[in-house]
Amino acid sequence: MSKDRVIFWFRQDLRIADNPALSAAAGTEKEVICLYILDDETPGEWAMGGAGCWFLHHALDSLDKDLKGLGSKLVLRAGNATEVLPDFADEISATAVFWNRLYEPYAIKRDKALKACLRERDIEVESSNASLLFEPWTVETKSGGPYRVFSPFWRACMRDCPSPDEPIKAPKSLKTPKQHPRTEKLDDWGLLPTKPDWAKGFAEIWTPGEQGAKDRLAWFLDEAAADYKDKRDRPGVRATSGLSPHLHFGDIGPRQIYHAARAQAEKQDGTAKSIEKFIAELGWREFSHHLLYHFPSLPTDNYQEKFDDFPWRDNDDDLKRWQEGQTGYPMVDAGMRELWQTGWMHNRVRMIVASFLVKHLMIHWRHGETWFWDTLVDADLANNSASWQWVAGSGADAAPYFRIFNPITQGEKFDPDGDYVRRYVPELANLPNKYLFSPWTAPDDVLKEAGVTLGQDYPEPIVDHSAARDRALGGYDDIKKAS
Ligand code: FAD
Repeated sequence: MSKDRVIFWFRQDLRIADNPALSAAAGTEKEVICLYILDDETPGEWAMGGAGCWFLHHALDSLDKDLKGLGSKLVLRAGNATEVLPDFADEISATAVFWNRLYEPYAIKRDKALKACLRERDIEVESSNASLLFEPWTVETKSGGPYRVFSPFWRACMRDCPSPDEPIKAPKSLKTPKQHPRTEKLDDWGLLPTKPDWAKGFAEIWTPGEQGAKDRLAWFLDEAAADYKDKRDRPGVRATSGLSPHLHFGDIGPRQIYHAARAQAEKQDGTAKSIEKFIAELGWREFSHHLLYHFPSLPTDNYQEKFDDFPWRDNDDDLKRWQEGQTGYPMVDAGMRELWQTGWMHNRVRMIVASFLVKHLMIHWRHGETWFWDTLVDADLANNSASWQWVAGSGADAAPYFRIFNPITQGEKFDPDGDYVRRYVPELANLPNKYLFSPWTAPDDVLKEAGVTLGQDYPEPIVDHSAARDRALGGYDDIKKAS
């Protein structure tokens, strides 16, 4: 085999454009072998969830097609990446490996070990940044530590850090060997659900892959960005970008989104404020990664230790009713059913359902985090853990614990026409708006007219809102006194 051969290792950067490590590999003018490893060494509880696997399957399929357009193709290997990669490098006599950096604690540890192992074998390793606007170690407080509060963090990024680089173009072609190394078959990896195929509805919503991500960004900028600030909290309206799974798997990068959004603000009068708000949400993504990098136990441990003594309830029945969207609170149930049917949930509703689990039901945020991990197509260790701790009140710059989302008034405010609840809780579709978010308050004749028998067609509320609120605040008082 020729010695003029390098590996590009795809991870969470499943795209060709604005992929700096791929461009660096192409720039060597050596043959580039594109590899994806289904790493079975990811720590057990953070192995990719079911919905994520569905997205990954289709994103890899799409990537392979795009690579074929460059005269290349994707080589798939499954196994422990710390063994698969060096073995593969030996197998094809590679002289260098290129990848884009990841920031999850286990990935950092694995990549460090791999770097050492490859260099020992005289194989060069070159890494780049493809997935963040600001890498975690580049943003520091004046006294030199990590930021723990979002606003000053984002101000520092915007004011003090160099502006994110312009995205780089896709390589025009990749030099490839006449005989490509053996690849495993994507279909053999079993990433798609079969019995039952719970992802049937996903393909109507998601188009994994670089083109799908580009189309979604273009739709958002043309059709929704101008109203983002006003409508982003309305789950019944298609007003947010839906780019989160694409950002997680990297079939689009944040620099591409950032610069396209800025260009749109310049092009379209009156959109600047709305687009600034959208870019600030990308900032929350940056902040979550910053937190996870500096506080690697964020996915498992309370950031604020006083929450270690919180009197959480262990109640499998309540947890199951929450997971299945059967709590009797329509706004919560709509969210949990949207999640199950589409692999995604609107951000406002994520906050409502998360608050309901940890406050109304007093069930530990880790149960919610785990369920989201398995069911979200955008499940992301940094965003998921930081957001759960934010809602639970145990995180950095978290919502104060005593801020308990009221699932009734939240519904009235953010789903004023009831479109969202009616879409996902169709058994209540004929209830007038006045009772839609609290059906148990409807008079008998109204329920009858709407064809609803509580406890039969739709559950009675799992807890009484005020009593649950008092119970949660009591739990918080206990830890406050103790700390
Ligand atoms: P847009 O409003 O269009 O925002 C653009 C991008 O900014 C998003 O794609 C996302 O990458 C980022 N973003 C937006 N809001 C947030 C936020 N609050 N925190 C961090 N990044 C944000 N997001 C995930 O990507 N993965 C998760 O696993 C995840 N888990 C969450 C769990 C809980 C309990 C909560 C409350 C939020 C969670 N989020 C998570 C954040 C947020 O809900 C989603 O990023 C957002 O709903 C994605 O929709 P969008 O792409 O239309 O967002």
